[in-house]
Amino acid sequence: MKVAVVKEAAPDERRVALVPEAVAKLRAADLEVLVESGAGDRAWLADGVYAKAGATIVPAGEVAGADAILMVGQPSEQLIARLRPGQAVFGLLAPLADPALAARLAAAGVTAVSLDLIPRTLPRAQPMDALSSQANIAGYKAAVLAAATFGRFFPLLITAAGTARPAKVLILGTGVAGLQAIGTARRLGAVVTAYDVRPETKTEVESLGATFLELAAVGPAAGDGGYARALTEDERQAQQEELTGHIARHDVVITTAQVPGRRPPVLVTADALKAMVAGSVVVDMGASDLGGNVDGSLPGQTVTTENGITVIGAGGLPSTMPAAASAMYARNISALLLYMMKDGKLAIDLSDELQAGVVISRDGSVIHPALAASADDEPARADPAGGTPDVNGAAH
Ligand code: NAD
Repeated sequence: MKVAVVKEAAPDERRVALVPEAVAKLRAADLEVLVESGAGDRAWLADGVYAKAGATIVPAGEVAGADAILMVGQPSEQLIARLRPGQAVFGLLAPLADPALAARLAAAGVTAVSLDLIPRTLPRAQPMDALSSQANIAGYKAAVLAAATFGRFFPLLITAAGTARPAKVLILGTGVAGLQAIGTARRLGAVVTAYDVRPETKTEVESLGATFLELAAVGPAAGDGGYARALTEDERQAQQEELTGHIARHDVVITTAQVPGRRPPVLVTADALKAMVAGSVVVDMGASDLGGNVDGSLPGQTVTTENGITVIGAGGLPSTMPAAASAMYARNISALLLYMMKDGKLAIDLSDELQAGVVISRDGSVIHPALAASADDEPARADPAGGTPDVNGAAH
C-alpha cells in the first residue's frame, strides 16, 4: 500500500502529518511512503531526513496517486479535485464544524477518516487520540503564553529588591488542555485554582497541586462519552455570575471549556473582564469563529480592554510548536492507519466502534451518523450526539 504526506494547505499551519520516525515505522510494516517535497519544512524537517527514513520525495501533484493521503488539517480544493474514488484521506478534517467538506469528499468518492472524531473513551483509541495529543500541547503553550504576557512573575521571588508574590492563575475547564495548563502554570510557580462542571476532575486537579473550585450555583453536569453536557440557560447565567467574583480575584485566567459540537460556553463575561485588575491576562483557548469562552475574544487576536486586561484569543497553538506537535500527531495517525489495515491493505470494518467513529464518507456517501443528517444542509452544525444543533453560551 502506498501512503502520501502532503504539505499542509493552510498558510499558517506548521505541522506535518508524519515525521521521519513514523515513516520508518510504516516502512517496517511494508508500506511505501511518499512525501510531498517541502512538507516538513515548517517543522524543521527537510526532505533529506525523510528520504533517509525510507520515504520517496515527490512533487506536489504526485501525492494524489497514493492509496491513502495523510494530512494534519483539511485538504485543499486543488487536492480534492485530483482525488479518485476509493482513495482514503486521513486528517483532522473537522467535519462537525464543516459538514460541507464531508459532502465534497463523499462526492469525490473518497473514504474520509477524521481523527478528531475518535471515540476518546475507548482505551484502544488512546494511541490514536490526536485531539488529546494536540490539546496537551495547546494547554502547555497557553500557560507559557500567559506567563510571557503577564507583566509580573508567576513564582514567588524573594530578592534584595523586594518580594514578588506568586501569580494567581484560574483555569476554567479541566479536560486535557486545562490539566496541562494547570501543570505548566504550577511548574512556573503560580498558585493555581481550577474549575470544571465535571466534579470527577477534582482529584486530577488536586494531584497537580491546584485547588478545585466548587460553585454553589451549578451542580454536576457530566454528559455522554466523558464530556460535559450543555448547561441550561438558568445554570449558565448562575455560573457566569458566580464565576465573576472568582475571576476578579485572579491575575491570569485560562479558559478551555467545550462541549463537542456546541458553541463554546461563555464563562468570562464583559462584566467579569471589567471586574479584573489592570495588567491581568486572559487566554481563551475556546476562541473560534463560533465564539469563545470569553466575551468578545477573537480567534488569533489579542485585544486590550479599556480597563487594561489583555485578552488573547488563542488559535492554532499546537502549530506554534510544530516539532513536538508533528511528532505526536505522526504517532496518532500512523497508529490509526495501521489499526485500519489488514494483509497490507486498508480494510475498514464499520462494525468496530472505533472505525465507525472516524469514517465520515465512503462509496460516495457521508456515512457518519453525526453528519449524515446534516449532509444536505451545509450551514448547519452537527451535534456528535445526533441531537439538535444548539448553543451553549451567550449570544455572540
Ligand atoms: P476537553 O473536552 O478535554 O475539555 C473541555 C472541558 O471543558 C471538559 O472537562 C468539560 O467538562 C469542560 N466544560 C464544558 N462545559 C463547561 C462549562 N460550562 N463550565 C466549565 N467547564 C466546562 O477538551 P480539550 O481537548 O481539553 O480542549 C479544550 C479547549 O481547547 C477546546 O475548546 C479546544 O477546541 C481548545 N483547543 C484549542 C487549541 C488552540 O490552539 N487554541 C488547541 C487545542 C484545543
